[in-house]
Amino acid sequence: MKHGNRHLQRYTVTVLACTSFLIMASLAQDAQEAAPPTLPQIVAPGTTAAHPPADADILFDGTSASLAAHWSHPDGRPAEWVVDEQARCMTIKPGSGSLISVEQFGDAQIHIEFATPTPAQGQGQGRGNSGVYMQARYEVQVLDSYENETYPDGQCGAIYGHHPPLVNASRPPGHWQTYDIIFHAPTLVETSGEPPMSVLPGTMTVFHNGVLIHDHAEFKGSTTASLMKEDMGPGPLYLQDHGNGVRYRNIWVREL
Ligand code: MG
Repeated sequence: MKHGNRHLQRYTVTVLACTSFLIMASLAQDAQEAAPPTLPQIVAPGTTAAHPPADADILFDGTSASLAAHWSHPDGRPAEWVVDEQARCMTIKPGSGSLISVEQFGDAQIHIEFATPTPAQGQGQGRGNSGVYMQARYEVQVLDSYENETYPDGQCGAIYGHHPPLVNASRPPGHWQTYDIIFHAPTLVETSGEPPMSVLPGTMTVFHNGVLIHDHAEFKGSTTASLMKEDMGPGPLYLQDHGNGVRYRNIWVREL
């Protein structure tokens, strides 16, 4: 009977504890539901979807001053790519090397425009090859993929070596094309087992010329030929010199 009483006591305490927990949880939920949502911050958009909104970091606006202020080669040399202020674009100077932005970012929305050389020269990976690397680690391939076959995860719009684009939305060589990228970096998360940390994959959603080519595509490791590899954390935007005179313009980033 003594034991019975103790069991009853324990049972009562447990029930009381559970009940008060449930009540508190429900109160907390009510409080959450009752809290009014805060009004979103006002951001003046650009005149078109391609123009930088008011809160964007403009990394290249088509001027030499902008190139000098926001870009360099990874070894510290001033950027040698060739600016055409009339056309408000820059052209890769083949052999000069890739460029990194001064600004570093984590998760971000990135807008960039490019045009592959015309008339088209070379084929496969040798035709209009460059690349836009988030955090200098994860490449969205730039290539002339207009009537130019190559392997699927190396064609224009591929997250290089990880995911082919969902469709080929390429314009012909010489035509301006756009990438709009929503980038979430991989992160380290604690686990209960061994090893104590594991990598939560990053994701990219990418529009090529307004067409969805990656829908929350997951990736963990850096892509081939990335500048930064092992570590994590903020990194610059990196534009690849792959020996072809690809042009770029209108580059802006919104940190998320
Ligand atoms: Mg490339």
